[in-house]
Amino acid sequence: MTYKRKRHHKEDNYRRRQWNKKPKTKDLDQIDDDMKEENAQKLIHQEIDFDKPGLAQHYCLHCARYFIDDRSLKEHFRTKAHKRRLKDLETEPYTIEESERAGGLGSFSVAKKRKVETQECNSILENKPKEQKMEN
Ligand SMILES: [Zn+2]
Repeated sequence: MTYKRKRHHKEDNYRRRQWNKKPKTKDLDQIDDDMKEENAQKLIHQEIDFDKPGLAQHYCLHCARYFIDDRSLKEHFRTKAHKRRLKDLETEPYTIEESERAGGLGSFSVAKKRKVETQECNSILENKPKEQKMEN
């Protein structure tokens, strides 16, 4: 009896942990969309947002995460999580076209591999303060 109760309790905890999982981040196909030049520029150079960590000025495009400062963003670039993500993004997302090809319509082609590199970390340098001292 005791054993059973204990076990149930454990499961309960486990389930609760599942609920409390990290906030859901973007799906890989959404990130793929973000990686398009125009979207990427918009995301990396976001407007200052006081609700986001680091005022939304330190964003990792590939992981869809905000960082509090340039240093933590750079540190993140060196983490396993980030590198794994880059690798995941190297394979282009599965398309309907592709599944048709796999299903015998047209010729089969292997999912394209592409080089995904960490974004340049120069947002700080470019976001110069708007009010520049006038030297008269
Ligand atoms: Zn990242």
